[in-house]
Amino acid sequence: MSFANRAVIALGSNLHRPEEQIRRALQTLAGHPHIHMREISSLYTTAPVGYDDQPDFVNAVCMAETGLDGRSLLAVLNGIEADFGRERSFRNAPRTLDLDIIDFNGETSADPHLTLPHPRAHERGFVMLPLAEIAPDFVLGEHGRAAEIAARLGDAGVFRRP
Ligand code: AMP
Repeated sequence: MSFANRAVIALGSNLHRPEEQIRRALQTLAGHPHIHMREISSLYTTAPVGYDDQPDFVNAVCMAETGLDGRSLLAVLNGIEADFGRERSFRNAPRTLDLDIIDFNGETSADPHLTLPHPRAHERGFVMLPLAEIAPDFVLGEHGRAAEIAARLGDAGVFRRP
């Protein structure tokens, strides 16, 4: 299988030693036979969004090349989430591991199963700051350059870990 497709993947965790969850998830992705990791951001500690009464998150973003199509990649990501013991209790609830496809080859899709680019990525500092770190010139759909989106959002509640 070739590695013709380019994906931006966001990772987040706020349960069960989140830093370790993110590091292990990155290793799992890197070890997948059809995924070739290109860039990996720093880890970020971020304040929860949507539901405040829960632990801080650890987030990261990576860029990868893959031979998988978008749906197959999402299935792989969902399998990894399941392996990491995520329980889907309620929207924005604490989670062991959340993996989202932020962009896939710059494609646009309104499919609710795989919406591209990810419909909320451009509103989320915990996605855009790590993405701007590894790919400031990356253009996210109609929203423009990652660095400009990140600058617009500001860095409140998003701390790059040393
Ligand atoms: P969440 O619980 O927020 O992780 O949402 C998971 C649901 O969002 C799943 O049903 C996915 O099929 C759907 N989904 C739609 N677009 C995307 C995307 N770009 N990346 C990841 N999940 C997506």
